[in-house]
Amino acid sequence: MTASAPQDFLPFVRPNIDDATIAEVGKVLASGWITSGPKVQAFEATLSDLFGGRPVRTFSNGSATMEIALRIADIGPGDEVITTPITWVATANVVLTVGARPVFVDIDPRTRNIDLDAVEAAITPRTRAIIPVYLSGLPVDMDRLYAIAKRHNLRVIEDAAQAIDSRWRGQRIGAFGDLVSFSFQANKNITTIEGGCLVMNSPEEAQRAERLRLQGVIRTGMDGMDVEEPGGKFNLTDVNAAIGLAQLQHLDAITARRAELAETYFRCAANAGLADLGIELPLPRDPDVATTNWHMFQVVLPTDRLRGGAAEARKHVMESMRESGIGTGVHYPPVHLFTYFRSLGWREGMLPHAERIGRGIVTLPMFPAMQTADVERVCATLSETCKRLSL
Ligand SMILES: *Cc1c(COP(=O)(O)O)cnc(C)c1O
Repeated sequence: MTASAPQDFLPFVRPNIDDATIAEVGKVLASGWITSGPKVQAFEATLSDLFGGRPVRTFSNGSATMEIALRIADIGPGDEVITTPITWVATANVVLTVGARPVFVDIDPRTRNIDLDAVEAAITPRTRAIIPVYLSGLPVDMDRLYAIAKRHNLRVIEDAAQAIDSRWRGQRIGAFGDLVSFSFQANKNITTIEGGCLVMNSPEEAQRAERLRLQGVIRTGMDGMDVEEPGGKFNLTDVNAAIGLAQLQHLDAITARRAELAETYFRCAANAGLADLGIELPLPRDPDVATTNWHMFQVVLPTDRLRGGAAEARKHVMESMRESGIGTGVHYPPVHLFTYFRSLGWREGMLPHAERIGRGIVTLPMFPAMQTADVERVCATLSETCKRLSL
């Protein structure tokens, strides 16, 4: 289908907030208790059920959640944390915030996730933790990840920001493992506008998380207050928690709808001949092993075959798509090449797969309210655009 008549702009993501959610928010605002309270407790209890009864605490955003996870794991100055450069920069920034050193390793170009062989090769006596990121919701090889962690006595802080309702061998991400961090930022599959949650191993870790999210304060009796370990201001509000509770009711439907849209994408991409144009599609799922929640549907452009080459091709494609009424995004440019990280010694050529994919990766529209015709339009427009910009 080609765009002849003007059509509505199709963004790459749009949150789904129903009337019931808006009504719930109104109730919280009218209740007289608007910051952390009963809704946060109910949200945490519901999340804990979702994650097999493991302890869960919520925070004001996913980055704060990661920072608390690092503190719970006692990661600090002198420690190295191995992670991927193809992520939202928060993943690396939180490592710096606690005073540790992020060590980037290359990605597996098929999954676009951290390469576990490279992880193992990067382990030194200072390595304390691994932060895998499940890009677009696709888990890494969880068996292998935890075997490496066990063999080298490392903590795992899973940046599962994008992976709510993704699965490994049928088990939900978060229902097993070490510290597992989720984000509920507006673009994620389930949102609280801003927010996050951490799945932990023990009531002791959960208690420490509660303290660290509110200045480290320990209350006893009616009037007792103490601080043993200073914390920050990272609590979620009841308004946000009410949104999250309402969203969670739709989790199954959201995941199912995204899977349908992904199937539609693969079918339309084949019809539009995207692979023949050199466009790399996501790794098809093996639903018995690593099941993605299709947080994003991302392709990698053949920048070397397109006008503008490595430096400009993606910009041209994205501009042209926007002119045709289709929004796209970049998730993500490789973190190690940002100016600050270059100042720590990271350079072009160090992580070639990440650098190539970071130049060509494009996020196509994907949200449950999309229709089959929207997917057809995206694939047809992308195909036309790449043909037009071919060298
Ligand atoms: C969204 C996201 C975060 C951070 O979450 P915020 O809630 O925006 O702070 C961290 N890592 C990844 C991979 C993300 O996608």
